[in-house]
Amino acid sequence: MADNGATYDPENIFAKILKGEIPCHKIYEDEDTFAFLDIMPRTDGHALVITKEPARDLFAISPGALAKVMAVVQTLAPKIKEASARRVLIQQFNGAAAGQTVFHLHVHIVPRKAGVPMRPEAAKMADPEELKATAEKIKAVLEG
Ligand code: 5GP
Repeated sequence: MADNGATYDPENIFAKILKGEIPCHKIYEDEDTFAFLDIMPRTDGHALVITKEPARDLFAISPGALAKVMAVVQTLAPKIKEASARRVLIQQFNGAAAGQTVFHLHVHIVPRKAGVPMRPEAAKMADPEELKATAEKIKAVLEG
């Protein structure tokens, strides 16, 4: 979708994931937020936390909804055991010029390990079976 910098497209990919129209490997959901694995992970366990508010970016989301997204990021990130301890990169892009490709506010949780480089951006779709196994592992930790 073209980045016109303003409007929210209710048919964007993440809106469709929220509506259940596109499958994903969900790891967490509450009233205000939803989290799932990135389909082209930069590292194993790369997850996205999204708001349920129809907000395209940091400037469109309400402060309350943003606070809820960040609280989930804070809770979820150290539980993704692909991360060694708390070595986690948190990324959030606003606008195409800043690297945003899906215009529904989301925060990346990218587990990092010393000496293990990130894969290039949008380079390769993950094996769905591997994503499924990773999601199950994360959910087990969250539920445990
Ligand atoms: P950004 O907009 O912050 O650059 O990144 C969007 C992210 O969404 C990318 O990391 C990309 O791999 C991921 N992504 C794009 N389409 C899908 C999809 O259909 N399912 C999932 N799970 N992730 C997606």
